[in-house]
Amino acid sequence: MDQIYNKGQQEIAEKISSSAKISNWKDWKWQLKHSIRDIDMFEKLLGVTFKESEKKQLQETIAKFPLSITPYYLSLIDTDDYVNDPIYKQAFPSISELQVGDYEMRDPLDEDKDSPVPGITHRYPDRVLFQVSATCSMYCRHCTRKRKVGDESFLPSREILLNGIQYIRQTSAIRDVLLSGGDPFLLSDEDIDWLLTELRTIPHVEVIRIGTRIPVVLPYRVTDSLVSVLKRHHPIWVNTHFNHPREITKSSKEALSRLADAGIPLGNQSVLLAGINDSPSIIKKLVHKLVQNRVRPYYLYQCDLSEGLKHFRTPVGKGVEIMESLIGHTSGFAIPSYVVDAPGGGGKIRITPNYLLSWSPDKVVLRNFEGIITTYEEPKSYVDIFKNKSFNPSDTKLEGAEEYKAVGIEKLLSDANDTISLIPENTERIERRDNV
Ligand SMILES: *Cc1c(COP(=O)(O)O)cnc(C)c1O
Ligand code: SF4
Repeated sequence: MDQIYNKGQQEIAEKISSSAKISNWKDWKWQLKHSIRDIDMFEKLLGVTFKESEKKQLQETIAKFPLSITPYYLSLIDTDDYVNDPIYKQAFPSISELQVGDYEMRDPLDEDKDSPVPGITHRYPDRVLFQVSATCSMYCRHCTRKRKVGDESFLPSREILLNGIQYIRQTSAIRDVLLSGGDPFLLSDEDIDWLLTELRTIPHVEVIRIGTRIPVVLPYRVTDSLVSVLKRHHPIWVNTHFNHPREITKSSKEALSRLADAGIPLGNQSVLLAGINDSPSIIKKLVHKLVQNRVRPYYLYQCDLSEGLKHFRTPVGKGVEIMESLIGHTSGFAIPSYVVDAPGGGGKIRITPNYLLSWSPDKVVLRNFEGIITTYEEPKSYVDIFKNKSFNPSDTKLEGAEEYKAVGIEKLLSDANDTISLIPENTERIERRDNV
């Protein structure tokens, strides 16, 4: 599978259209036009047949969560054992998607509640998520935004986009804008250029990031023309979404190289998925292949509690086990952060195995990846000059340093703040005090 247009791909192309050529295959618009959107076409192209009863349920599933697979991504499926294939499992519906567990939610991350204007989720102090597209070239079965993607009624109009840009313009705390969707690279080059140009007129926007699955599912979309648009608006960062080493093919490598050659720092966000990549050896292979292609593993996500994802979820312990197998065992820059995105909108929470075993005023006890237990002697006379009351933050000559304001746990650690505890709302004990 390491060739562009191998025999399998040629067969699929010819079944789609008898006159198909390699130039069609590598044309992203051809790929989109011929994306597989129904079960019959899937059966025909892959040479498989489902039982009538199963087919009926599959049809019900895709009526709820749409099906779309690019011919390219379909061609990565191993037809000899498609049922266990990691590409198949990410792309093709399972009737388990219709079973919604009690704990599952349409919007588990409360993205819509933390939305000041349509399309924008403003959760963290200095950055926003901006959903600029509602469509994807392949609908991942494990998508956390299943409630939205593929639904034409969520397609953001120019007006919605302008409103979002206006919100960012008016909110000077936003220094990082994360374009997401759906897939932002399904917009035309002209629309992407327009959007980036608008965002670049906002002085406080320091960085623009784009989250896309294009290099994985439709690598031919990364054209010279797209890359030259992106290059005009630096600094642009791109995060992609590879979940399995088999997704890194010659075509996807070419797309990644084009982006990296344009000076775009590349990151990868994977989702931990049962039966697909929930094994230390698969993740290790994946991160090694990513760094070989100049992609820095960024996040490994615990699967969210979105509706119909029960069959993809692993215990959190599986993620910790995988992190244990990476930290110390391989290059630091090949190791992603493992995160649980907090249900209810608390944001991403990083989880690692514990390395700090114990401590006293003069020593900490740590363990390393090999299980060696070691001690680190604390300094005897440490003076924190930056926490000294007479220290003036503007002395650092860092622009904006004097505006620094601690929040959350950070506030408890800060000497410049008198807060000694954070108390949850509706704490009975505190309520009793108020009643005295
Ligand atoms: C993930 C996410 C971000 C970006 O978080 P980083 O940790 O900076 O990558 C911003 N906003 C929302 C709503 C997110 O889900
Ligand atoms: S590319 Fe992203 S937004 Fe689109 S279906 Fe996959 S996970 Fe969801």
